[in-house]
Order: sequence, then C-alpha cells, then structure tokens
Amino acid sequence: MTLMNVNRWIQQAQREGFAVGAFNANTMEQVQAIVQAAQAERAPVIVQVSLNALRYVGGGSILTGMRYMAEIGRIAAQSVDVPVALHLDHAHETEVLQALGAGFTSVMFDGGDLPLDENLRVTRKLAEAAHSVGAFIEAEVGAVPRVNAAGDVVGDTELTDPQAAAEFARAAGVDALAIAIGSVHSVRDKHVQLDLERLKAIRAVVDTPLVLHGSSGVTDDCIRDGIRFGLCKINVATQLNKAFTGAVRDSLTHDAANVDPRPYLDAARQAMTAGVRERLRFFGAAGKA
Ligand SMILES: [Zn+2]
Repeated sequence: MTLMNVNRWIQQAQREGFAVGAFNANTMEQVQAIVQAAQAERAPVIVQVSLNALRYVGGGSILTGMRYMAEIGRIAAQSVDVPVALHLDHAHETEVLQALGAGFTSVMFDGGDLPLDENLRVTRKLAEAAHSVGAFIEAEVGAVPRVNAAGDVVGDTELTDPQAAAEFARAAGVDALAIAIGSVHSVRDKHVQLDLERLKAIRAVVDTPLVLHGSSGVTDDCIRDGIRFGLCKINVATQLNKAFTGAVRDSLTHDAANVDPRPYLDAARQAMTAGVRERLRFFGAAGKA
C-alpha cells in the first residue's frame, strides 16, 4: 500500500479501546522491522521519526534526512498490505511544513516552547496545512521530560491540566493530543507510573484521541489501564532501540572476527521486529488492519 493517514484506525481505537502503535526508526532496518511486524500482526502502524533521527540519516541535514525517510517509508509501505503512516515527531513549524511537502502522512507540532496563545495560533495554521494535503496532525498540551545518558531527568515537566487540554483541543482542530501524565522520554526500564486519575479527568472533557509519549519506561499495568481509560496512540522508541542494539552487541560478541555488517544488522532487524510484534499485540492492535 501507499503511505496513509491512519486517522480511521485511531478513531476505531478510541471507540473500541485499543491503541495504534507509533514506533521510532533511525535506520532503514528499523523501518523494515516496523512494517514487517505490522504485516505479521495484521495491524495498522505508524513509523515515527524524530528530528535527531533525520539529522543522523541526512548526515547533519534535516531536509536531506526527510527526503531519505520519505522514500524509505514509501517503499516500506508498498512492501506490505497493512496501513502504514510516516510520522514526524516533535517538530517546529518549518519542519512540519517541510515534512508535509516531502510526503509524510502525519506530523506532530510541538509548540511547547511558545506562549500558549502563540502555540494555539501556529497549531491551527499547521492543522489547516496538514488537512489540506490529507495528513494527520498531533499537538501537545503539557510537557513530557526526558532522561539523559546519565539517567537525570532533564527538560520541563508540566503535567497536562484537563481544562487547558479541553480548551486547546476545541480551538486547535488537531487529530490527536499528546498529554503529560507522568511518563518520561528515553527511560530504559519499566518502572514509571502514570497519573491515571489525571488521564480519566482529561478524557472526560476531551474528545480528541489522546497520545502517550515515553511509553518505554512505563509499567505495562499502567499502559494497559491507560488504553482502557482512553490512550489510543502510543509512542515507543527506547525499548526497541534497546532490543536492536542488544542484538548487534550479541552478534558481534559471538563472532568477534566478523567484518560483514549484514549478519548483525539482520539480527538487529529481527530482534526489533519481535519487539514491535509484542507491542502491537499488547496494545490490542493486532488483527485490526
Ligand atoms: Zn515525545
């Protein structure tokens, strides 16, 4: 199939109580792992890229990285017969417009560093731009921090206020809303708890589908309850990078004389495929395509 807007499946997820998985890719092998897993599980899927991934792929140029990933994403989507979206995560205004031009079918505008009224003004403008080309757009209310390599939490933490989320969702006209309910980006082990009462309070006043960022560090019990209480797009990056990199490490350890990149990249691709399949089943998305 061609790259798609998967709004229909996000809407279905919200009605039926499952979640569509959005999985981060930094390399061609990771894109392939995501679509192969989706095909095997008959699930709709979102291939998600960060600005840092695009910088890496583009040798320092986000725009070049975008062009590479748009082509790789298109070919990956055409290699399977389940719906695949290509999503740009946490982007500014310029990059959102560039991604829409490059053929991405989904974007997230992160206006967290703008004053709220300016964030809203730009979000509305970008929602119109996205919808005019048939693309999906996500925005964020609140701020999800991250941990750095030393394990320290960095960046702003601002848990989402239900009333602020309701007002923003009504005015912004976006297809999905990322919320901050206790998760943290880049956490390597599952121990973080979600503020489920806050999620329920948000869901009670917001009809827009809700998105969880930073799921890798969140306990599966909390993710399961979170889906039950209204999360319908879940982003996964760190736990899959961990599986991918772990397989490279194992492969090289077992064959220290190897100089061929294919055996360890193939092992990594297979490990990530298994990890994405497990998440798709856990999210209840298997069999929904
Ligand atoms: Zn995020």
